[in-house]
Amino acid sequence: KKKIGILAVQGAFLEHGNMLERIGVESFEIRKKSDYQGKDFSGLILPGGESTVMGKLLNDLDMFSDLKKMIDSGMPVFGTCAGMIMLAGNIRNENYTHFGSMDINIERNGYGRQLGSFAVEGKFAGMRDVPMTFIRAPYIESTGKDVAVLAETGGRIVAAREKNMLVTSFHPELTDDTRVHEYFLNMI
Ligand code: GLN
Repeated sequence: KKKIGILAVQGAFLEHGNMLERIGVESFEIRKKSDYQGKDFSGLILPGGESTVMGKLLNDLDMFSDLKKMIDSGMPVFGTCAGMIMLAGNIRNENYTHFGSMDINIERNGYGRQLGSFAVEGKFAGMRDVPMTFIRAPYIESTGKDVAVLAETGGRIVAAREKNMLVTSFHPELTDDTRVHEYFLNMI
């Protein structure tokens, strides 16, 4: 039985839990080390929010290296928006990375900081008319050779997968379409 840990120190974590509940998948929130220590679970969600704050809290709460180890040892992980920023191996317009585990080069706040919120429908992994909600989102500028591009809109890459890692610039948890979460669950 699949059980998903949702990083819940900051950001849009509740919506991911609601989405998983709708498709009948158990989840739990990760706010501190004891929430995951000794626990058996099969996937991790890094939600949208503010990546700088999330990164700082992970360090303050001493969870950063545990989570990095999980991700780098193959735990299926889904990063939305700020979660994508957490996973990116390079952030073109910053001089730091967070986990840095995925071979993508991203532009943070790629659509502008203020008026960067909009919604479109597009193709995701061959599925049509998937609603995509963007909120001060990053986009993917370029990908490494082992990365599969799963969605593009406006000429920009907005979803990708490499091995155990899935990222979207947009927020599927803020729509009522469950297909992107189902795609993630099929990676497990
Ligand atoms: N702009 C945010 C950041 O840099 C991401 C926005 C979001 O997750 N909706 O972390």
